[in-house]
Amino acid sequence: MPRRFFLLFLGLMLLAGTAPAPEADPVLLPILMYHDVEEDGLGKDVVSPAELEADLRWLRASGYTAVTMGEVIDFVDGRRSLPDKPVVLSFDDGRQSVCLTVLPLLRKYGTPAVLSVIGESADEFSALPGENPRRAHASWAQLRAIADAGLGELQNHSYGLHRGSGGVFGCDRRPGESPEEYELRLAEDVLKAQECIWRETGRLPSVFTYPYGRCSALSEAVLRELGFRATLTCDFGVNRLTGDPDCLFGLKRICRSHGADLPSLLAEAAATLKGS
Ligand SMILES: [Zn+2]
Repeated sequence: MPRRFFLLFLGLMLLAGTAPAPEADPVLLPILMYHDVEEDGLGKDVVSPAELEADLRWLRASGYTAVTMGEVIDFVDGRRSLPDKPVVLSFDDGRQSVCLTVLPLLRKYGTPAVLSVIGESADEFSALPGENPRRAHASWAQLRAIADAGLGELQNHSYGLHRGSGGVFGCDRRPGESPEEYELRLAEDVLKAQECIWRETGRLPSVFTYPYGRCSALSEAVLRELGFRATLTCDFGVNRLTGDPDCLFGLKRICRSHGADLPSLLAEAAATLKGS
């Protein structure tokens, strides 16, 4: 492992290794998944600001309290309790709309959000001169600002794996790739994202969000070895949190698309727990 990765690896390891808390009643955790929040192009990955605000209002009126993944990890480690009805609001890809449109709403409702950042997109959009509200992705300065405001918890969505071709996407293993080649490629990419998020924002993610929800039989072990405490997928459902750190891997989410009804979505997701 190159020295700079090794130093980062050591830092990550400091985040891991806490003994599990004693078994307690499981806490149910829905994790909502959003991408863009815009007036235009509404669809699966784009909801309007009015829809997001309606969600925030409904969650509050229904007794939900938004928490960060850091708080969820601390709960599993037995270091803190969680509110009665915790919920995580996750926004994938580090879209600029999250910094421009979502931040004021998070501030208005006092709601923290989890932002899963694609390293290469933040690098690319940070290199563009001037400001342009139509840009797809946020710059590092914008991400730093939302994190500094205490409203955006930055997490890792890979450096350059948010792409795909020939049926191979995200953290899929490529055809013909040996386990060692795959593990090295994944570790290098993920650590490159860790390094730039740390360098640009002073935050070190503890959660990996799978691009497109795509993973392999080897990916969870690689991410655990690198010190990650949790992984977020695109599988639909609600999670049971216990005192076992394993419960934080492969967390399910609820994709909130344009036109969807949040109360129905949450009820549908909760129904997946029955008999599981
Ligand atoms: Zn994504």
